[in-house]
Amino acid sequence: MSRIPVLIVGAGPVGQLSALLLARQGIASRLIDRRPQPSEAPKAHAVNPRTLEICESVGVPAEGLRREGASANDAGWVRFICTLTGTEFGALPYERQDDKALAHTPYPLTNIPQPKFEAALAKAIDAEPLITFTRGVTCADLAEVPDGVTAQLEAADGTRDALTCDYLIAADGAGSRLRDTLGIAMEGPEALQHNLMIHFEADLRALTDARPGVLYFLFQPGTSGVFIAYDRGRTWVLMHPHDPAREPRESFDDARCRALIEAAIGTAAPALPALHVRHVSPWTMSAQVAERYRKGRVFLAGDAAHRFPPTGGLGLNTGAVDAQNLAWKLAAVLKGEAGEALLDTYETERRPVALTNCEQSLTNASKIFELFGALYGPDPAKRQAHYEAIAANPAASAELAATVEAQRPHFDSFNLQLGYRYASAATIGAPALQAAAGVDISDYRPSWEAGAHVPHRWVKTRGGARVSLLSLLAADRFAILAGPGGDGWREAAADAGLTALRGGRDFEDETEGWTELTGLPKDGALLVRPDGHIACRFEGGANDAAALLGQTLAEVLA
Ligand SMILES: Cc1cc2nc3c(=O)[nH]c(=O)nc-3n(C[C@H](O)[C@H](O)[C@H](O)COP(=O)(O)OP(=O)(O)OC[C@H]3O[C@@H](n4cnc5c(N)ncnc54)[C@H](O)[C@@H]3O)c2cc1C
Repeated sequence: MSRIPVLIVGAGPVGQLSALLLARQGIASRLIDRRPQPSEAPKAHAVNPRTLEICESVGVPAEGLRREGASANDAGWVRFICTLTGTEFGALPYERQDDKALAHTPYPLTNIPQPKFEAALAKAIDAEPLITFTRGVTCADLAEVPDGVTAQLEAADGTRDALTCDYLIAADGAGSRLRDTLGIAMEGPEALQHNLMIHFEADLRALTDARPGVLYFLFQPGTSGVFIAYDRGRTWVLMHPHDPAREPRESFDDARCRALIEAAIGTAAPALPALHVRHVSPWTMSAQVAERYRKGRVFLAGDAAHRFPPTGGLGLNTGAVDAQNLAWKLAAVLKGEAGEALLDTYETERRPVALTNCEQSLTNASKIFELFGALYGPDPAKRQAHYEAIAANPAASAELAATVEAQRPHFDSFNLQLGYRYASAATIGAPALQAAAGVDISDYRPSWEAGAHVPHRWVKTRGGARVSLLSLLAADRFAILAGPGGDGWREAAADAGLTALRGGRDFEDETEGWTELTGLPKDGALLVRPDGHIACRFEGGANDAAALLGQTLAEVLA
């Protein structure tokens, strides 16, 4: 039997990011996945700015991911349509992918199919000696032992091996077997809708050049669902709602899937380009969050901890931040720099974010259903006639226009992506969290309060380079961001091995002064955690900055 600091079960995006983030902190991990090969199902497409920042912090450049993904021009719209080639009922821009986003993030949202995203992470893992990654290995069971967890690992040939770790991250996806083994229940509706994810390859550029988009919601009597255009020239998914009791998965053979795709495109052969159905997988829409994120030395992360409706593109992105939040805390405890209680703040900080994102994804899904009301009318007997009248002249329906407009927050969730905050024992003086209900999910207002993530600012470094302030913060240590009069803080931070930055010396904001930005006096400072969140605000200079910094770190690190 061997031992490792951290065992990560599941090498989806969350497991892989967890391994890379731990390695960045100098912590070795073993990463396993039961699949002998990575999944080819495209699944996620929207990788948001925060996830891209995390990727950057572990040496996976956001620019590389952008190059692998769809262009902002191709993936810049969401369309509500009859069929792909039929009437359009309305369209909305898809998230902030243009240069205006650069005021708030160095890395605007990118649309990249999940397998390509995972491949980029796997490449970084290959180059990382602290990570041992094995595919074709299943975690079959686990048990707590004194000071650790012993996992039973089963290879494809059925042979078993026991591995003991200090901590285990269960990143084993929505159907997490480990979560069940631990007896952790999910809260919220489990089966809101059954879908088939029909992944097919076809070059549909010519059919969609006049109306490029990333999501096409279909509304036509007898045809509903969503097209996801990962790459209009090749990779598509038709999400087809169905009732598994009446139509089992096996009844969807190649011919039936092709017929569904053709009906949804609205053009049959020979006008239809060659089309190849790659995978058909059933998929159930849930809106659930685990009742707890930790049991002893085992932590749930990603879809194992929460499963959202895909309406919002938040599953992978929420999971990426789970990984970031947990990794630095595990590393601090493993290195003897923090007390065990720090690990409890993982759930305190991340579960409320999951609840908010789950609720929003559900709201988005139900808002989409309002479009059926606008298109089909209130009287079931006159459904077809109502639909045909609107389809003949969609621009004439004020109700339709208003219902399309009501979808806008669904596709512009900048504040949800960047504005979440924490209030826990790992922050000092963080304001209590606002009730999610009153928050405008699109309107991101950068905050310098304790618990918020340090906002992105374009700054000039000492060498004259123009960079994001975020790029000056290292992911493997705390940082002090001091005002222009905060030399005492900068020196204390440098002596303690923290990233030490003083305004006017190490960075100069392009447009605003320190006090205007942060609300702190010139000799004030911010203590920033390795995940970029503000742990504490120092409202001025201190007689003994080193002692105060030490006490504050001790408190934050439990
Ligand atoms: C159609 C669709 C579109 C989506 N679009 C978006 C989007 O645009 N943006 C977004 O953020 N999210 C999106 N999502 C959600 C996103 O795909 C998931 O949230 C994401 O895959 C979760 O990552 P994960 O690593 O937690 O889990 P998974 O990706 O499910 O990975 C879990 C891994 O664990 C492995 N595993 C399971 N059990 C064991 C075991 N016992 N031992 C070893 N290995 C095990 C599995 O083989 C798997 O590789 C979408 C999902 C779908 C279906």
